[in-house]
Amino acid sequence: MGTRGIEIVGMDVNELLELLNRAYCDEWLAYYQYWVGAKIVAGPMKDAVIAELEQHATEELNHALMLTNRIIQLGGVPINKPEDWYKWTNCGYNAPDDPYVKVILQQNIEGEQCAISTYQKLMQQTQTADPVTYNMVLQIIEQEVEHEEDLQSLLEDLELMVSRK
Ligand code: FE
Ligand code: FE
Ligand code: MG
Repeated sequence: MGTRGIEIVGMDVNELLELLNRAYCDEWLAYYQYWVGAKIVAGPMKDAVIAELEQHATEELNHALMLTNRIIQLGGVPINKPEDWYKWTNCGYNAPDDPYVKVILQQNIEGEQCAISTYQKLMQQTQTADPVTYNMVLQIIEQEVEHEEDLQSLLEDLELMVSRK
């Protein structure tokens, strides 16, 4: 924890830490949803979908890492009990009970849309108050926007394929 680095934050640091920890819980749940989704997904275009889900899992885990680093830098403690992820999450966890590709894609698109809204809000809250956090969130949201588009184009291709059979 760097004292001057914390002093320059122009908003309540505890409030900011809570927002960062909530997003941190989202990222772990998103990571696991993608990771386990990639294992069980079934149906047409399965290989392309698995590759994308695996890539996104890796990227969500990296978002969790970026958030932890910032939480620690601000003198906070990352949520350290998985049972608390459910209490703090913004976007929740959508268990892939139905392994069909279309269902898995739709569940993860929903998750990405929630992530985009969450980070948009966090950017508005930090834009002038904390440019360091803002810059980190900007990097994360760029990837969430890409994730949504990746999944939506897979879903489009899948629907084209199924409708033309
Ligand atoms: Fe993420
Ligand atoms: Fe994402
Ligand atoms: Mg991707």
